Amino acid sequence: MSLVIVGSVAFDTIETPEARRERIVGGSCTYSALAASYFTKPKIVAVVGEDFPKTTAAFFKKRGIDLKGLSVIPGGKTFFWEGRYGDDPNQRDTLRLDLNVFNNFQPTLPASYRTPDILFLANIGPALQEHVLAQVKRPRIVAMDTIRHYIETEPEALARVLRKTDIYFANDEEARLMTNERNLIRAGRLLLERGPRLVVLKKGEHGALVFSRDSLFGIMAHPCEGVVDPTGAGDSFAGAFLGYLDRVGNLRVSSIRRAAVYGGVLASLTIEDFGIERYKTLKPADVEDRFQRIKKFVSI
Ligand code: AMP
Repeated sequence: MSLVIVGSVAFDTIETPEARRERIVGGSCTYSALAASYFTKPKIVAVVGEDFPKTTAAFFKKRGIDLKGLSVIPGGKTFFWEGRYGDDPNQRDTLRLDLNVFNNFQPTLPASYRTPDILFLANIGPALQEHVLAQVKRPRIVAMDTIRHYIETEPEALARVLRKTDIYFANDEEARLMTNERNLIRAGRLLLERGPRLVVLKKGEHGALVFSRDSLFGIMAHPCEGVVDPTGAGDSFAGAFLGYLDRVGNLRVSSIRRAAVYGGVLASLTIEDFGIERYKTLKPADVEDRFQRIKKFVSI
């Protein structure tokens, strides 16, 4: 099986009620690929500038991430995002967004990327999502994630991508914005009518709901006491979910349920430290340990 991920590789400046970090490594592709790397060897499609640290690229490689699709633009500046969290970790404001090298980025995919089993169109402009989708032989699963910014600025292109999507990940705010529906169960059902076979609604510290045409189930999040930086929770959830499906190679209901729990596991681990710091020491055994804890937590 194989998993290709397209999304942002970024520098983030992050402010929480307790602390501020300047220009740390982040991005939707970064978090998803790191989370997926605990289950499979993801291939990434993204672009960075010459200012991107070589040590981080080396770390990605060490985690088994294929960097053939990562372009480095000589003299270019890496994508930059700045966000601020209030007391509710599920709410944040974007203070600044510089696409930099992502402006007009039109990659040609390496030959080894063109027949993925799973293609994840992580949060990035829908034009780039479509450009990548057009270059691959129809994957078994196309998954997609986006954010408020693109829902508001490029709704038509986003709707086209959604029609070609099998699994759509959204948080509660995005689901409401996409559908104009406040009730999340009705919003999930409405989204199923727009293309996807599965809709995964991430509800932050409250877990996630997974909708298909004939079923609905929910998972609890790990009960975290110390949320240091909520950035990347959604991307890590999706990366682990898809990485696990890539590893097991089927879409049985039991696999999807386990994928959702692994999504929650990696999301809860990511937010224990700033940026990608937690990944630097995270062992497969830590992932398994948290999976077992969540299982015990929800068993009756
Ligand atoms: P998450 O917290 O999972 O929603 O993802 C946060 C990551 O998304 C940050 O590391 C940002 O660099 C990245 N990000 C924020 N805005 C955008 C955008 N407009 N396009 C792509 N990536 C973005």
